[in-house]
Amino acid sequence: MSKIEDNKIFIYNSLKGEKQEFKAIQAPNLGIYVCGPTVYSNVHLGNCRTFLSFDNVVRYFKFLGYNVRYVRNITDAGHLVDDAEEGEDKISKKARLEKLEPMEIVQKYTLDFHHVLSQFNALPPSIEPTATGHILEQIAMINTILDKGLAYEVNGSVYFDVNKFNEEGGNYGELSGRNIEDLMAGSRVLDGQSEKKNPQDFALWKKASPQHIMRWDSPWGEGFPGWHLECSAMGTKYLGDQFDIHGGGMDLKFPHHECEIAQGKACNDVSPVNYWMHANMLTLNGQKMSKSTGNTLLPEELFNGGSDLLEKAYSPMVVRFFMLQANYRSILDFSSEALNASEKGFNKLMNAKKELNNLTYKLGTISETEDKRILQLIADCYANMNDDFNTPKTIAVLFDLVNKVNKIVSSKQFDISENTFNNMKETLNGFVEDVFGLKAEEKAEEGKLNGVLEMLIGMRKEAKENKDYALSDQIRNELSALGIQLKDGKDGTSYTVA
Ligand code: AMP
Ligand code: ZN
Repeated sequence: MSKIEDNKIFIYNSLKGEKQEFKAIQAPNLGIYVCGPTVYSNVHLGNCRTFLSFDNVVRYFKFLGYNVRYVRNITDAGHLVDDAEEGEDKISKKARLEKLEPMEIVQKYTLDFHHVLSQFNALPPSIEPTATGHILEQIAMINTILDKGLAYEVNGSVYFDVNKFNEEGGNYGELSGRNIEDLMAGSRVLDGQSEKKNPQDFALWKKASPQHIMRWDSPWGEGFPGWHLECSAMGTKYLGDQFDIHGGGMDLKFPHHECEIAQGKACNDVSPVNYWMHANMLTLNGQKMSKSTGNTLLPEELFNGGSDLLEKAYSPMVVRFFMLQANYRSILDFSSEALNASEKGFNKLMNAKKELNNLTYKLGTISETEDKRILQLIADCYANMNDDFNTPKTIAVLFDLVNKVNKIVSSKQFDISENTFNNMKETLNGFVEDVFGLKAEEKAEEGKLNGVLEMLIGMRKEAKENKDYALSDQIRNELSALGIQLKDGKDGTSYTVA
Protein backbone atom coordinates (compact mmCIF):
# COMPACT_ATOMS: atom_id res chain seq x y z
CA MET A 1 0.00 0.00 0.00
CA SER A 2 1.23 3.48 -0.74
CA LYS A 3 1.47 6.19 1.86
CA ILE A 4 -1.49 7.89 0.20
CA GLU A 5 -3.70 4.84 0.70
CA ASP A 6 -2.36 4.26 4.20
CA ASN A 7 -3.21 7.72 5.43
CA LYS A 8 -6.79 8.94 5.53
CA ILE A 9 -6.63 12.66 6.04
CA PHE A 10 -9.43 14.51 7.79
CA ILE A 11 -9.74 18.20 7.00
CA TYR A 12 -11.83 20.77 8.81
CA ASN A 13 -13.88 22.00 5.89
CA SER A 14 -15.08 25.55 6.62
CA LEU A 15 -17.83 25.10 4.06
CA LYS A 16 -19.39 22.26 6.06
CA GLY A 17 -18.29 23.35 9.53
CA GLU A 18 -16.85 19.92 10.33
CA LYS A 19 -13.90 17.61 9.79
CA GLN A 20 -14.35 15.50 6.71
CA GLU A 21 -12.36 12.71 5.18
CA PHE A 22 -10.32 14.14 2.33
CA LYS A 23 -10.91 12.57 -1.05
CA ALA A 24 -8.92 14.03 -3.93
CA ILE A 25 -10.79 14.45 -7.19
CA GLN A 26 -8.03 12.66 -9.09
CA ALA A 27 -5.57 11.12 -6.61
CA PRO A 28 -2.60 11.12 -6.62
CA ASN A 29 -3.03 14.55 -8.23
CA LEU A 30 -4.13 17.33 -5.96
CA GLY A 31 -4.98 20.95 -6.70
CA ILE A 32 -4.69 23.62 -4.04
CA TYR A 33 -5.16 27.37 -4.33
CA VAL A 34 -4.04 29.78 -1.63
CA CYS A 35 -4.80 33.51 -1.73
CA GLY A 36 -1.49 35.31 -1.99
CA PRO A 37 -0.42 38.69 -0.67
CA THR A 38 -1.48 42.11 -1.87
CA VAL A 39 1.96 43.44 -2.71
CA TYR A 40 1.74 47.05 -1.54
CA SER A 41 3.95 46.76 1.54
CA ASN A 42 6.27 44.34 3.36
CA VAL A 43 4.65 41.11 4.47
CA HIS A 44 4.26 41.05 8.25
CA LEU A 45 4.55 38.12 10.58
CA GLY A 46 0.77 37.60 10.57
CA ASN A 47 0.72 37.15 6.80
CA CYS A 48 3.64 34.75 7.15
CA ARG A 49 1.71 32.63 9.62
CA THR A 50 -1.02 31.97 7.06
CA PHE A 51 1.45 31.22 4.27
CA LEU A 52 3.46 28.90 6.53
CA SER A 53 0.30 27.10 7.67
CA PHE A 54 -0.41 26.21 4.07
CA ASP A 55 3.23 25.44 3.37
CA ASN A 56 2.90 22.68 5.97
CA VAL A 57 -0.29 21.39 4.39
CA VAL A 58 1.35 21.25 0.95
CA ARG A 59 4.50 19.68 2.39
CA TYR A 60 2.54 16.92 4.12
CA PHE A 61 0.60 16.04 0.98
CA LYS A 62 3.87 15.90 -0.98
CA PHE A 63 5.47 13.81 1.75
CA LEU A 64 2.69 11.25 1.36
CA GLY A 65 3.32 11.12 -2.38
CA TYR A 66 0.61 13.38 -3.78
CA ASN A 67 1.34 15.21 -6.98
CA VAL A 68 0.51 18.68 -5.79
CA ARG A 69 -0.26 21.60 -8.07
CA TYR A 70 0.01 24.51 -5.70
CA VAL A 71 -1.26 27.85 -7.00
CA ARG A 72 -0.69 30.97 -4.94
CA ASN A 73 -1.43 34.27 -6.59
CA ILE A 74 -0.02 37.73 -6.28
CA THR A 75 -2.67 40.42 -5.92
CA ASP A 76 -1.30 43.32 -7.89
CA ALA A 77 -4.54 45.12 -8.79
CA GLY A 78 -8.17 45.43 -7.76
CA HIS A 79 -7.72 45.37 -3.98
CA LEU A 80 -8.99 48.73 -2.79
CA VAL A 81 -8.02 50.57 0.37
CA ASP A 82 -10.01 49.28 3.40
CA ASP A 83 -11.18 46.32 1.29
CA ALA A 84 -13.85 48.73 0.04
CA GLU A 85 -15.74 48.78 -3.24
CA GLU A 86 -15.05 52.41 -3.96
CA GLY A 87 -11.85 54.37 -3.84
CA GLU A 88 -8.18 53.99 -4.43
CA ASP A 89 -6.31 50.81 -5.27
CA LYS A 90 -3.91 49.86 -2.44
CA ILE A 91 -1.04 49.59 -4.90
CA SER A 92 -1.65 52.85 -6.72
CA LYS A 93 -2.05 54.66 -3.41
CA LYS A 94 1.39 53.44 -2.36
CA ALA A 95 2.78 54.34 -5.79
CA ARG A 96 1.40 57.85 -5.42
CA LEU A 97 2.90 58.25 -1.94
CA GLU A 98 6.30 56.87 -2.93
CA LYS A 99 6.28 58.58 -6.33
CA LEU A 100 6.85 55.30 -8.12
CA GLU A 101 5.12 53.40 -10.91
CA PRO A 102 2.51 50.95 -9.54
CA MET A 103 4.49 48.12 -11.11
CA GLU A 104 7.61 49.26 -9.25
CA ILE A 105 5.65 48.85 -6.03
CA VAL A 106 4.50 45.42 -7.15
CA GLN A 107 8.06 44.37 -8.02
CA LYS A 108 9.54 45.68 -4.80
CA TYR A 109 7.11 43.94 -2.48
CA THR A 110 6.90 40.74 -4.50
CA LEU A 111 10.68 40.41 -4.13
CA ASP A 112 10.38 41.11 -0.41
CA PHE A 113 7.67 38.46 -0.09
CA HIS A 114 9.79 35.85 -1.89
CA HIS A 115 12.85 36.71 0.17
CA VAL A 116 10.97 36.43 3.46
CA LEU A 117 9.31 33.14 2.59
CA SER A 118 12.57 31.62 1.41
CA GLN A 119 14.18 32.56 4.73
CA PHE A 120 11.39 30.57 6.37
CA ASN A 121 12.20 27.71 3.98
CA ALA A 122 8.70 27.78 2.47
CA LEU A 123 8.28 25.90 -0.79
CA PRO A 124 7.55 28.08 -3.79
CA PRO A 125 4.15 27.45 -5.40
CA SER A 126 3.96 25.53 -8.69
CA ILE A 127 2.28 28.56 -10.29
CA GLU A 128 2.27 32.12 -9.00
CA PRO A 129 -0.11 34.01 -11.25
CA THR A 130 -0.86 37.71 -11.01
CA ALA A 131 -4.17 39.53 -11.25
CA THR A 132 -2.86 41.93 -13.90
CA GLY A 133 -1.65 38.99 -15.98
CA HIS A 134 -5.19 37.60 -16.11
CA ILE A 135 -7.39 40.54 -17.09
CA LEU A 136 -8.63 38.73 -20.22
CA GLU A 137 -9.66 35.67 -18.21
CA GLN A 138 -11.50 37.91 -15.75
CA ILE A 139 -13.34 39.73 -18.52
CA ALA A 140 -14.32 36.38 -20.07
CA MET A 141 -15.70 35.24 -16.73
CA ILE A 142 -17.76 38.42 -16.34
CA ASN A 143 -19.17 37.93 -19.83
CA THR A 144 -20.31 34.41 -18.96
CA ILE A 145 -21.95 35.58 -15.73
CA LEU A 146 -23.66 38.43 -17.61
CA ASP A 147 -24.89 35.98 -20.27
CA LYS A 148 -26.43 33.86 -17.54
CA GLY A 149 -28.33 36.89 -16.26
CA LEU A 150 -26.57 36.81 -12.87
CA ALA A 151 -24.83 40.18 -13.21
CA TYR A 152 -25.78 43.59 -14.57
CA GLU A 153 -23.96 46.56 -16.00
CA VAL A 154 -24.47 50.15 -14.81
CA ASN A 155 -22.44 53.13 -16.05
CA GLY A 156 -19.41 51.08 -17.05
CA SER A 157 -19.37 48.91 -13.90
CA VAL A 158 -20.63 45.33 -13.61
CA TYR A 159 -22.15 43.95 -10.39
CA PHE A 160 -22.97 40.44 -9.32
CA ASP A 161 -26.71 40.10 -8.69
CA VAL A 162 -26.86 38.34 -5.33
CA ASN A 163 -30.67 38.19 -5.18
CA LYS A 164 -30.97 36.66 -8.63
CA PHE A 165 -28.23 34.17 -7.81
CA ASN A 166 -30.09 33.07 -4.70
CA GLU A 167 -33.45 32.87 -6.47
CA GLU A 168 -31.81 30.37 -8.78
CA GLY A 169 -30.59 28.27 -5.85
CA GLY A 170 -27.18 29.91 -5.43
CA ASN A 171 -27.02 29.93 -1.62
CA TYR A 172 -24.94 33.10 -1.10
CA GLY A 173 -23.80 33.06 2.53
CA GLU A 174 -23.18 29.31 2.70
CA LEU A 175 -19.49 29.66 3.61
CA SER A 176 -19.70 32.47 6.15
CA GLY A 177 -22.98 31.23 7.58
CA ARG A 178 -24.60 34.57 6.81
CA ASN A 179 -28.22 34.58 5.93
CA ILE A 180 -28.99 36.76 2.94
CA GLU A 181 -32.28 38.06 4.42
CA ASP A 182 -30.44 39.16 7.58
CA LEU A 183 -27.73 40.75 5.49
CA MET A 184 -30.36 42.69 3.56
CA ALA A 185 -32.23 43.72 6.71
CA GLY A 186 -29.00 44.86 8.33
CA SER A 187 -27.85 46.93 5.37
CA ARG A 188 -28.48 50.57 4.86
CA VAL A 189 -31.39 51.32 2.60
CA LEU A 190 -29.95 52.39 -0.72
CA ASP A 191 -29.80 56.15 -0.72
CA GLY A 192 -30.41 56.48 -4.41
CA GLN A 193 -26.78 57.35 -5.01
CA SER A 194 -25.56 53.80 -5.32
CA GLU A 195 -25.63 52.16 -8.70
CA LYS A 196 -26.24 48.77 -7.17
CA LYS A 197 -29.66 47.14 -7.13
CA ASN A 198 -28.89 45.80 -3.71
CA PRO A 199 -26.23 46.63 -1.10
CA GLN A 200 -25.04 43.01 -1.05
CA ASP A 201 -24.23 42.98 -4.76
CA PHE A 202 -20.52 43.12 -5.34
CA ALA A 203 -18.38 44.49 -8.13
CA LEU A 204 -17.03 42.21 -10.86
CA TRP A 205 -15.75 45.20 -12.82
CA LYS A 206 -15.46 48.85 -11.80
CA LYS A 207 -15.38 51.83 -14.07
CA ALA A 208 -12.16 53.73 -13.47
CA SER A 209 -12.46 57.34 -12.36
CA PRO A 210 -10.11 59.72 -14.24
CA GLN A 211 -7.56 59.62 -11.39
CA HIS A 212 -7.53 55.81 -11.11
CA ILE A 213 -4.27 54.91 -12.83
CA MET A 214 -4.50 51.12 -12.87
CA ARG A 215 -7.01 50.65 -15.68
CA TRP A 216 -7.73 48.34 -18.59
CA ASP A 217 -9.95 48.34 -21.64
CA SER A 218 -13.07 46.22 -21.45
CA PRO A 219 -16.43 45.78 -23.21
CA TRP A 220 -17.81 48.20 -20.56
CA GLY A 221 -15.19 50.89 -21.00
CA GLU A 222 -11.95 51.50 -19.09
CA GLY A 223 -11.87 50.05 -15.63
CA PHE A 224 -10.44 47.38 -13.37
CA PRO A 225 -11.55 43.99 -12.02
CA GLY A 226 -13.22 43.53 -8.63
CA TRP A 227 -10.90 42.04 -6.01
CA HIS A 228 -12.76 38.72 -5.63
CA LEU A 229 -12.72 37.92 -9.31
CA GLU A 230 -8.99 37.35 -9.81
CA CYS A 231 -8.90 34.28 -7.57
CA SER A 232 -11.90 32.76 -9.34
CA ALA A 233 -10.35 33.35 -12.74
CA MET A 234 -6.89 32.05 -11.84
CA GLY A 235 -8.15 29.13 -9.77
CA THR A 236 -10.35 27.96 -12.63
CA LYS A 237 -7.67 28.48 -15.24
CA TYR A 238 -4.98 26.46 -13.48
CA LEU A 239 -6.95 23.97 -11.38
CA GLY A 240 -10.27 23.54 -13.21
CA ASP A 241 -13.91 24.50 -12.61
CA GLN A 242 -13.83 22.41 -9.44
CA PHE A 243 -10.70 21.63 -7.48
CA ASP A 244 -9.65 20.05 -4.19
CA ILE A 245 -8.58 22.67 -1.64
CA HIS A 246 -8.73 26.45 -1.28
CA GLY A 247 -6.94 28.17 1.56
CA GLY A 248 -6.52 31.61 3.04
CA GLY A 249 -6.64 33.48 6.32
CA MET A 250 -9.85 33.43 8.35
CA ASP A 251 -10.44 37.10 7.57
CA LEU A 252 -10.89 36.25 3.89
CA LYS A 253 -13.94 34.04 4.47
CA PHE A 254 -16.31 36.91 3.99
CA PRO A 255 -16.71 38.56 1.58
CA HIS A 256 -13.72 37.37 -0.48
CA HIS A 257 -14.25 33.61 -0.44
CA GLU A 258 -18.03 33.82 -0.24
CA CYS A 259 -17.93 35.83 -3.47
CA GLU A 260 -15.50 33.39 -5.05
CA ILE A 261 -17.98 30.57 -4.50
CA ALA A 262 -20.80 32.64 -5.98
CA GLN A 263 -18.72 33.61 -9.03
CA GLY A 264 -17.57 30.02 -9.63
CA LYS A 265 -21.07 28.61 -9.35
CA ALA A 266 -22.56 31.35 -11.52
CA CYS A 267 -19.93 30.93 -14.21
CA ASN A 268 -19.33 27.17 -14.27
CA ASP A 269 -22.50 25.73 -12.68
CA VAL A 270 -20.49 23.93 -10.05
CA SER A 271 -19.21 24.75 -6.58
CA PRO A 272 -15.58 25.66 -7.27
CA VAL A 273 -13.89 24.05 -4.26
CA ASN A 274 -14.40 20.81 -2.32
CA TYR A 275 -12.52 21.72 0.89
CA TRP A 276 -12.19 25.27 2.18
CA MET A 277 -9.46 25.73 4.76
CA HIS A 278 -9.02 28.85 6.90
CA ALA A 279 -5.97 29.62 8.97
CA ASN A 280 -6.39 31.56 12.18
CA MET A 281 -4.75 34.86 13.02
CA LEU A 282 -1.51 35.81 14.67
CA THR A 283 -2.17 38.39 17.34
CA LEU A 284 0.05 40.87 19.12
CA ASN A 285 -1.07 41.85 22.61
CA GLY A 286 -4.31 40.06 21.88
CA GLN A 287 -5.05 42.16 18.82
CA LYS A 288 -4.92 40.90 15.23
CA MET A 289 -1.65 41.76 13.55
CA SER A 290 -2.73 44.03 10.74
CA LYS A 291 -1.23 46.51 8.33
CA SER A 292 -4.20 48.83 8.62
CA THR A 293 -3.82 49.30 12.41
CA GLY A 294 -0.02 49.33 12.31
CA ASN A 295 0.00 46.56 14.93
CA THR A 296 2.64 44.58 13.08
CA LEU A 297 6.03 42.98 13.39
CA LEU A 298 8.16 42.40 10.33
CA PRO A 299 10.07 39.12 10.02
CA GLU A 300 13.26 41.11 9.52
CA GLU A 301 12.77 42.79 12.91
CA LEU A 302 12.69 39.35 14.51
CA PHE A 303 15.73 38.12 12.65
CA ASN A 304 17.83 41.13 13.67
CA GLY A 305 16.19 41.73 17.05
CA GLY A 306 15.48 45.32 16.10
CA SER A 307 12.12 45.78 17.82
CA ASP A 308 11.33 47.07 21.30
CA LEU A 309 8.95 44.17 21.70
CA LEU A 310 11.79 41.68 21.59
CA GLU A 311 14.45 40.69 24.10
CA LYS A 312 16.75 39.48 21.34
CA ALA A 313 16.91 38.22 17.77
CA TYR A 314 15.33 34.93 16.69
CA SER A 315 16.26 32.88 13.67
CA PRO A 316 13.73 32.11 10.92
CA MET A 317 13.70 28.43 11.88
CA VAL A 318 12.90 29.20 15.51
CA VAL A 319 10.04 31.44 14.38
CA ARG A 320 8.79 28.74 12.03
CA PHE A 321 8.93 26.23 14.89
CA PHE A 322 7.05 28.66 17.15
CA MET A 323 4.23 28.81 14.61
CA LEU A 324 4.14 25.03 14.24
CA GLN A 325 3.57 24.68 17.96
CA ALA A 326 0.06 26.07 17.56
CA ASN A 327 -2.77 24.48 15.63
CA TYR A 328 -3.41 26.42 12.42
CA ARG A 329 -7.06 26.86 13.43
CA SER A 330 -6.22 28.44 16.79
CA ILE A 331 -5.31 32.03 17.45
CA LEU A 332 -1.60 32.39 18.19
CA ASP A 333 -0.44 35.27 20.34
CA PHE A 334 3.06 36.51 19.79
CA SER A 335 5.39 36.96 22.75
CA SER A 336 9.09 36.93 23.50
CA GLU A 337 8.58 34.32 26.25
CA ALA A 338 6.88 31.95 23.86
CA LEU A 339 9.69 32.43 21.36
CA ASN A 340 12.32 31.73 24.02
CA ALA A 341 10.59 28.46 24.83
CA SER A 342 10.40 27.62 21.12
CA GLU A 343 14.09 28.29 20.72
CA LYS A 344 14.90 25.77 23.45
CA GLY A 345 12.55 23.21 21.93
CA PHE A 346 13.92 23.72 18.45
CA ASN A 347 17.53 23.26 19.61
CA LYS A 348 16.63 20.14 21.54
CA LEU A 349 14.89 18.66 18.50
CA MET A 350 17.69 19.49 16.08
CA ASN A 351 20.40 18.21 18.43
CA ALA A 352 18.65 14.88 18.86
CA LYS A 353 18.23 14.60 15.10
CA LYS A 354 21.95 15.23 14.61
CA GLU A 355 22.89 12.69 17.27
CA LEU A 356 20.56 10.14 15.75
CA ASN A 357 22.10 10.57 12.31
CA ASN A 358 25.59 10.07 13.79
CA LEU A 359 24.61 6.81 15.50
CA THR A 360 25.54 3.44 14.03
CA TYR A 361 23.17 0.68 14.99
CA LYS A 362 24.58 -2.11 17.17
CA LEU A 363 22.48 -5.09 18.11
CA GLY A 364 21.69 -5.28 21.83
CA THR A 365 19.05 -7.03 23.93
CA ILE A 366 15.82 -6.15 22.24
CA SER A 367 12.87 -5.16 24.37
CA GLU A 368 9.65 -6.04 22.55
CA THR A 369 7.73 -3.47 24.60
CA GLU A 370 10.15 -0.69 23.69
CA ASP A 371 10.13 -1.72 20.04
CA LYS A 372 6.34 -1.65 19.94
CA ARG A 373 6.22 1.68 21.72
CA ILE A 374 8.50 3.30 19.19
CA LEU A 375 6.51 1.87 16.29
CA GLN A 376 3.41 3.32 17.93
CA LEU A 377 5.05 6.76 18.22
CA ILE A 378 5.95 6.62 14.54
CA ALA A 379 2.34 5.77 13.66
CA ASP A 380 1.16 8.61 15.92
CA CYS A 381 3.16 11.17 13.93
CA TYR A 382 1.10 10.30 10.87
CA ALA A 383 -2.15 9.97 12.81
CA ASN A 384 -1.80 13.48 14.22
CA MET A 385 -0.99 15.05 10.89
CA ASN A 386 -3.88 13.10 9.33
CA ASP A 387 -6.14 14.72 11.92
CA ASP A 388 -6.47 18.09 10.21
CA PHE A 389 -2.71 18.73 10.22
CA ASN A 390 -2.37 18.82 13.97
CA THR A 391 1.20 20.09 14.14
CA PRO A 392 1.40 20.71 17.94
CA LYS A 393 0.38 17.13 18.69
CA THR A 394 2.80 15.79 16.08
CA ILE A 395 5.59 17.82 17.68
CA ALA A 396 4.72 16.38 21.09
CA VAL A 397 5.16 12.88 19.63
CA LEU A 398 8.45 13.90 17.99
CA PHE A 399 9.66 14.93 21.45
CA ASP A 400 8.77 11.46 22.77
CA LEU A 401 11.01 10.12 20.00
CA VAL A 402 13.68 12.64 20.96
CA ASN A 403 13.66 11.23 24.51
CA LYS A 404 14.17 7.73 23.11
CA VAL A 405 17.05 8.95 20.97
CA ASN A 406 18.69 10.68 23.94
CA LYS A 407 18.31 7.51 25.98
CA ILE A 408 20.08 5.45 23.31
CA VAL A 409 22.80 8.08 22.94
CA SER A 410 23.55 8.24 26.65
CA SER A 411 23.24 4.52 27.39
CA LYS A 412 24.68 3.28 24.07
CA GLN A 413 22.14 0.45 24.42
CA PHE A 414 20.16 -0.42 21.33
CA ASP A 415 17.11 -2.17 22.73
CA ILE A 416 15.10 -1.97 19.51
CA SER A 417 15.42 -3.87 16.23
CA GLU A 418 17.45 -2.44 13.39
CA ASN A 419 14.29 -2.02 11.31
CA THR A 420 12.61 0.00 14.04
CA PHE A 421 15.76 2.04 14.52
CA ASN A 422 15.90 2.87 10.80
CA ASN A 423 12.20 3.60 10.75
CA MET A 424 12.59 5.99 13.68
CA LYS A 425 15.46 7.75 11.92
CA GLU A 426 13.51 8.07 8.69
CA THR A 427 10.44 9.38 10.53
CA LEU A 428 12.28 11.95 12.60
CA ASN A 429 14.23 13.22 9.60
CA GLY A 430 11.18 13.15 7.33
CA PHE A 431 8.85 15.02 9.69
CA VAL A 432 11.41 17.59 10.76
CA GLU A 433 12.84 18.38 7.33
CA ASP A 434 10.21 17.51 4.74
CA VAL A 435 6.93 18.00 6.59
CA PHE A 436 7.86 20.84 8.94
CA GLY A 437 10.48 22.44 6.70
CA LEU A 438 12.94 22.83 9.58
CA LYS A 439 16.62 22.79 8.80
CA ALA A 440 19.70 23.00 10.95
CA GLU A 441 21.04 26.47 11.12
CA GLU A 442 24.59 27.31 10.55
CA LYS A 443 25.42 29.66 13.39
CA ALA A 444 26.45 33.04 12.02
CA GLU A 445 29.97 32.70 13.52
CA GLU A 446 30.38 29.22 12.06
CA GLY A 447 29.38 30.50 8.66
CA LYS A 448 31.94 33.30 8.88
CA LEU A 449 34.72 30.95 10.05
CA ASN A 450 33.98 28.57 7.19
CA GLY A 451 34.15 31.45 4.75
CA VAL A 452 37.52 32.62 6.09
CA LEU A 453 38.94 29.08 5.98
CA GLU A 454 37.82 28.58 2.39
CA MET A 455 39.56 31.85 1.53
CA LEU A 456 42.82 30.77 3.21
CA ILE A 457 42.70 27.36 1.50
CA GLY A 458 42.32 29.17 -1.82
CA MET A 459 45.30 31.43 -1.06
CA ARG A 460 47.42 28.43 -0.04
CA LYS A 461 46.55 26.64 -3.29
CA GLU A 462 47.55 29.70 -5.29
CA ALA A 463 50.81 29.99 -3.32
CA LYS A 464 51.62 26.35 -4.12
CA GLU A 465 50.87 26.88 -7.80
CA ASN A 466 53.30 29.83 -7.71
CA LYS A 467 55.84 27.60 -5.96
CA ASP A 468 55.74 29.92 -2.96
CA TYR A 469 56.08 27.04 -0.51
CA ALA A 470 57.13 29.30 2.34
CA LEU A 471 53.71 30.97 2.26
CA SER A 472 51.72 27.76 1.77
CA ASP A 473 53.51 26.14 4.75
CA GLN A 474 53.05 29.22 6.85
CA ILE A 475 49.27 29.14 6.27
CA ARG A 476 49.11 25.44 7.18
CA ASN A 477 51.30 25.76 10.28
CA GLU A 478 49.62 28.82 11.68
CA LEU A 479 46.20 27.26 11.26
CA SER A 480 47.50 24.11 12.90
CA ALA A 481 48.69 26.15 15.86
CA LEU A 482 45.09 27.40 16.19
CA GLY A 483 43.81 23.81 16.22
CA ILE A 484 42.67 23.79 12.60
CA GLN A 485 44.13 20.90 10.61
CA LEU A 486 44.25 21.01 6.82
CA LYS A 487 44.17 17.72 4.96
CA ASP A 488 45.10 17.53 1.27
CA GLY A 489 43.17 14.89 -0.66
CA LYS A 490 42.19 13.93 -4.20
CA ASP A 491 39.21 16.30 -4.19
CA GLY A 492 41.04 19.27 -2.74
CA THR A 493 41.79 20.38 0.78
CA SER A 494 39.48 19.71 3.71
CA TYR A 495 39.81 20.83 7.33
CA THR A 496 38.92 19.85 10.84
CA VAL A 497 38.40 22.36 13.62
CA ALA A 498 39.37 21.11 17.07
P1 AMP B 1 -3.19 40.48 2.36
O1 AMP B 1 -1.81 40.76 1.84
O2 AMP B 1 -3.72 41.53 3.27
O3 AMP B 1 -4.14 40.16 1.23
O4 AMP B 1 -3.08 39.16 3.28
C1 AMP B 1 -2.39 38.00 2.89
C2 AMP B 1 -2.80 36.84 3.77
O5 AMP B 1 -2.40 37.06 5.13
C3 AMP B 1 -4.30 36.56 3.82
O6 AMP B 1 -4.52 35.16 3.71
C4 AMP B 1 -4.72 37.07 5.17
O7 AMP B 1 -5.84 36.37 5.65
C5 AMP B 1 -3.49 36.74 5.98
N1 AMP B 1 -3.37 37.53 7.23
C6 AMP B 1 -3.49 38.87 7.39
N2 AMP B 1 -3.30 39.23 8.69
C7 AMP B 1 -3.05 38.08 9.37
C8 AMP B 1 -2.76 37.76 10.74
N3 AMP B 1 -2.68 38.70 11.67
N4 AMP B 1 -2.55 36.46 11.06
C9 AMP B 1 -2.62 35.48 10.13
N5 AMP B 1 -2.87 35.71 8.82
C10 AMP B 1 -3.09 36.99 8.44
ZN1 ZN C 1 -8.11 35.32 -3.09
